[in-house]
Amino acid sequence: MLEELAALAKIAEIDARALATDTELEEIPARMTELSSDVDKLRELLEAEKQDLAEADGLLKTQQDEMKGQSDALARSKAKSARAQTMREVDAVERELEVIRRSMREREEEREKLKAAIDKRRSSVEKHEQEFADLENFTSEEKANAEARLGELNQERSSILAGREELVKKVPGQIIRRYEMIRKKRSGVGAVTVRDGICIGCNTALRPNQNIAIQRHETFEQCPRCNRLLYSPHTIAKAEEAAAGGKDGEE
Ligand SMILES: [Zn+2]
Repeated sequence: MLEELAALAKIAEIDARALATDTELEEIPARMTELSSDVDKLRELLEAEKQDLAEADGLLKTQQDEMKGQSDALARSKAKSARAQTMREVDAVERELEVIRRSMREREEEREKLKAAIDKRRSSVEKHEQEFADLENFTSEEKANAEARLGELNQERSSILAGREELVKKVPGQIIRRYEMIRKKRSGVGAVTVRDGICIGCNTALRPNQNIAIQRHETFEQCPRCNRLLYSPHTIAKAEEAAAGGKDGEE
């Protein structure tokens, strides 16, 4: 039993060391996905903004064409005015000219407003284009860093986990399955040591007879509160001592 308990204790220590690595290995791709989706969202907004600007430019162009048409009409009316013979004709042409002039003034005002709005929008687009370019640069740097870090972490992880499979073979299958299940439920920690009769996983005091069984390396015990498998801080040393002494450590 001592050897089995020690194997579980070693697995727990390996997993505790791998935990930070595993957490970071999960966090990095999640952060990259988030960043990519930010870039996509910003790209969409920028495209919509550019589309609006192009439409406004088109509207301005139409207005300018209309104004050109009006000044042509004005020139024609002026020519007519020069040819007017009677007072009635002169009045009629004057009224016509006045209508055209008023319409042109209104158009001019509209055009100035539109131009101002377009200028404002254009500078906003330029600002957003710059921001987008900055975000893209930042993202590609972050991606390169993330790739490098993932490489490091995977290497670290495989060196931490070296030998784990061999240890798993030494622990009863049912215990390993229980251990893995608890690990999933209990923030990655499936087995902990007991110090002074207290589970260090959740600080619960154990019943004295359970504590004694643990200190004697007799059975696989579980914490009554957090359910984690328990072992003595001396289990590994004790098993190594037993192995060095030529004994197999089993009872
Ligand atoms: Zn506990």
